[in-house]
Amino acid sequence: MAQNGSVRGRRQPNILVTGTPGTGKTTTSSALAEATQLRHICVGDLVREKNLHDGWDNEFECYLINEDLVCDELEDLMEGGGNLVDYHGCDFFPERWFDRVVVLQTDNSVLYDRLSRRGYTGSKHSNNIECEIFQVLLQEAKESYQEDIVVALKSDTIEDITRNVESLTDWVRSWHPAS
Ligand code: ADP
Ligand code: MN
Repeated sequence: MAQNGSVRGRRQPNILVTGTPGTGKTTTSSALAEATQLRHICVGDLVREKNLHDGWDNEFECYLINEDLVCDELEDLMEGGGNLVDYHGCDFFPERWFDRVVVLQTDNSVLYDRLSRRGYTGSKHSNNIECEIFQVLLQEAKESYQEDIVVALKSDTIEDITRNVESLTDWVRSWHPAS
């Protein structure tokens, strides 16, 4: 199967950490990268640094990511394994890249305050709250990857982050390449 064939050659796993903005992807990924020595790739930063976009979207107040450029940029790294990819989208990456897809989820009222603190207002704020209410990223992940590699993890508190990092670190340590 493509799934097994694809991981041949990877000596360390690739993990995708996704979820609505504000659910703690970057905080969790940074801690997990430190614990596991996996390479943290924050796709949003990469897009800005390497201009992998088609300009600024005034309506959504973000860069219009160029998905092909992002995938081209990451292909070699992903093939080598050992990456922790942090992005609030997951349907445009090649399915074969990932061994685990983590979807972080946050209680609406908690997320509401986090996004306000981050300075999100108006439709940018409400769009993201809706995204979380309708579990958009979890659906997207389930549609894009085999269900058994997709895990939803609660990210309401610092204790949740600690627990998630611990369980993912255990998973990384016990991961073996498919034969
Ligand atoms: P994302 O990368 O998903 O947009 P961040 O990791 O940047 O989210 O987190 C956004 C803000 O929310 C940060 O100030 C972070 O400290 C806080 N935060 C994220 N997850 C949690 C959590 N589980 N518990 C407490 N605070 C959190
Ligand atoms: Mn982030």
